[in-house]
Amino acid sequence: MQHTRRQFLHAAGGFAVSCSLLPKIGFGQQKTKTRLILLGTKGGPRVGEAGRSNPSTLILINDVPYLIDCGYGTSRQLLSANVALNRLRYIFITHHHSDHNLEFGPLVYNAWITGIPARIDAYGPPGLTKMSVDYFNYLEFDIQTRMVDEGRPDPRKLVTIHEFAKPGVVLMNDEVKVSSCRVRHPPITQAYAYRFDAADRSIVISGDTAYSPELAEFAKGADVLVHEIMYLPGIEALISRLPNAKRLREHLMAAHTLPEDVGKVAAQAGVKTLVLSHFVPGDDASITDDQWSEGVRKHFKGRVIVGKDLLEI
Ligand SMILES: [Zn+2]
Ligand SMILES: [Zn+2]
Repeated sequence: MQHTRRQFLHAAGGFAVSCSLLPKIGFGQQKTKTRLILLGTKGGPRVGEAGRSNPSTLILINDVPYLIDCGYGTSRQLLSANVALNRLRYIFITHHHSDHNLEFGPLVYNAWITGIPARIDAYGPPGLTKMSVDYFNYLEFDIQTRMVDEGRPDPRKLVTIHEFAKPGVVLMNDEVKVSSCRVRHPPITQAYAYRFDAADRSIVISGDTAYSPELAEFAKGADVLVHEIMYLPGIEALISRLPNAKRLREHLMAAHTLPEDVGKVAAQAGVKTLVLSHFVPGDDASITDDQWSEGVRKHFKGRVIVGKDLLEI
């Protein structure tokens, strides 16, 4: 196919001509399509032996990756989603819990070592710059060695960090407008949801949040809302075995959203599709898809998708 196309281009006798002909021969048909792929759907920092990977969500707009959160395993999951790591372009961090940022540095490193990405822009709440600087310091010996020994460029110049401490427009380019909304995730105050308004689709990623009417307002009219979810009976079973059970239960109840409330937010926002992700607990295989979505459906009558790793929506 590749060979045939090359021959065709050669025969067409010039780039200007072949450009206008390319769509007709089926090249680049993915263009102008906004794709949503769940990379990791398990809430919390614990690495499971099997099952869901830690949080990360990918939006591809005209084949350009926009990555939301970098839980442990994100590099591997990107490869599984057929995104070469040196294609990494935009990263958005919702908040600085480690299940959302643990692989930020390693992901940038992996992109660098794969072959030079053009540029990475990373957006997130205060702390992202320090995290980036600290990460490069942590790997300074390796980086210096490879720059001298292998002639690699300086990875620190690859990344531009954009911190913000207030909700609003985060990024605007020809393809998409990305905006943020402050959500409720105590004790963390700098926790955000993101909204991506592309030409063909609008997608909202809740990040971690307790029931948040502001989020419902922010997600008004979106095509897709990806919302975190916590299943109480699963929590009770999980934490009854832990020494810090009482404290952990209090944190979870204050900082995450139960199914009924997820349904309320989706209904208030009037979204077409609700995607459940960031499951807490995320590695209890005994909880069925129906159990995850039952409470949600009491309030939301649209399409509900129980998220799975690498599911494309
Ligand atoms: Zn989380
Ligand atoms: Zn969190």
